[in-house]
Amino acid sequence: MNNLSKLVLTASMVLAGLIISPKKIDCSFDYFLKDKQIVQEKEYPLNDKGFPTTEGIEQYVKDNEYTVIEEFERFFNVSINSMGFETDNLEGYLNVYPDEIRGGELGLYFEDYAVISNSEDYLGYSLKTTDSKKLANIPDTYAFVKATMIHEIGHDYIEQVIAELLAQGIHASPEYTDYRRTTDGSRFNKEGIAQYCVRAMNESKMGSNHIPKSYEKLTADYYTFYYKYSELFLRNFLKEKGLREGIRTLVVNTPAGPAQMMNFDEWLDNLKNVWDIEKHSLLYQQP
Ligand SMILES: [Zn+2]
Repeated sequence: MNNLSKLVLTASMVLAGLIISPKKIDCSFDYFLKDKQIVQEKEYPLNDKGFPTTEGIEQYVKDNEYTVIEEFERFFNVSINSMGFETDNLEGYLNVYPDEIRGGELGLYFEDYAVISNSEDYLGYSLKTTDSKKLANIPDTYAFVKATMIHEIGHDYIEQVIAELLAQGIHASPEYTDYRRTTDGSRFNKEGIAQYCVRAMNESKMGSNHIPKSYEKLTADYYTFYYKYSELFLRNFLKEKGLREGIRTLVVNTPAGPAQMMNFDEWLDNLKNVWDIEKHSLLYQQP
């Protein structure tokens, strides 16, 4: 398999992983949750600059992977079928996926798991456990280990929803399922959904809500475009629709182009309703 195709997956590849994954067992849920919340409050080591250490990051991810997934599920009232975490130094991935990653990423999403960077680049383990003095002069940030985990669960959930649609006979727009056809608009929406999850769970600090009026200014900075404006553009839509229905509606439609990007609310208002597509595909399937 081509290496690049491993990073941004087609829905069919993800589907294979989802169908065989066992359902989560919910018995003793409260007991485990209590148990794990105690683990989460544990103190993790900081380096001499006051930031998470490589060893601490690895331990945090290991200790908290199920807790964070469960928190995500409860918060958005969804079920994550299959998701795991690894930690690694992401620099090594730059040579392998030069077209897909630019460096500076804190997490990479693969089929049913994410690799979380273990470099000492985070401001803290989670927003809530980070000394507010450290964040005082930083207007926007999501550079926390937990925020990165939530972001990657968001990506996993997008792929899960696409796979579920496909199982229903409804195809997502190819810009979302075929990495060769990714557009600014589809990447913008995917990152925006993942960032929305982080912000909704109150694990990122997002300051000003200012949105530039020209496409050039909007897209001038890669990270601001894909990781801040995307969330600002999609926030109310996802809040109103709910995470699952919001994703379903976005991915069955062709993503916005530059002109539509500048009239994004209007573009959102005119998206095809997934229920209409569902009705049509059911009729189509009848013999
Ligand atoms: Zn992402």
